Amino acid sequence: MKFCDFHIHTNYSDGELSLREVVDLYGRAGFGAIAITDHLCDRKSLLGLSAKFLDWTLTEENFYQYLKEIEKEAIRARLKYNMLVIPGVEITYNSFKYARSAHILALGIKDFIDPDQEIKNIFKGIRQQGALSVAAHPVSTKVNEPQTYYLWNHRESLRDLCDLWEVASGSYLFEEVMNSDLPKIANSDFHIRKHFSSWKTVLPSGGSWAEVKKHLLNGNLQFKFFHEQEGEKCLRQVLKVREGSITVLEELW
Ligand code: ZN
Ligand code: ZN
Repeated sequence: MKFCDFHIHTNYSDGELSLREVVDLYGRAGFGAIAITDHLCDRKSLLGLSAKFLDWTLTEENFYQYLKEIEKEAIRARLKYNMLVIPGVEITYNSFKYARSAHILALGIKDFIDPDQEIKNIFKGIRQQGALSVAAHPVSTKVNEPQTYYLWNHRESLRDLCDLWEVASGSYLFEEVMNSDLPKIANSDFHIRKHFSSWKTVLPSGGSWAEVKKHLLNGNLQFKFFHEQEGEKCLRQVLKVREGSITVLEELW
């Protein structure tokens, strides 16, 4: 069984650590796979333009440099920690209206994705690259921060386009997603060091991106709370079955 985390930010956007520091943090803890998913903000809205001004977003100009550095770190991570590092991005559309805001993770990307497209075309573009799409924190995160409800409000029309839905982000499980029949994934949305202790996805094995992708799509996974100080001590362990519903295996609150 391997802990995995498919939603991690570095200082390429608004994360605290460098890519190398992230790889060493997760590698030393024995993770099987991680995805680097820095923000790629839209280039039209006021909030998207502010993110560019503040240097909190990837740009078309530095995108391939970002992929190249991930590739370099992926080789180091494989040799040093036997850990898979997946190139990803968080396509970020922030509006002052939470019902219009959406964050979409693209896992296993190879090319730039235009963040200014219609949402449905973003999902189609992700799939065309052979990458996986994830609806990031689609419901209330229970934290005092801007929320992103667009994807959840449109979940029926996006059902066939969006591969996975975050059932947990950081310390919180999302009851609404848990009780739905949508395919699920748990991530930390890592920005700062203290986000390391959080919900994670656990896969039966690490291996290649093709294998990891297969496990994620088949629902061959579990969700566990990873506590850095207590190692693998499980606060609550849940199993996602193929149909999308969740069975609680054990509870150790
Ligand atoms: Zn986000
Ligand atoms: Zn994020």
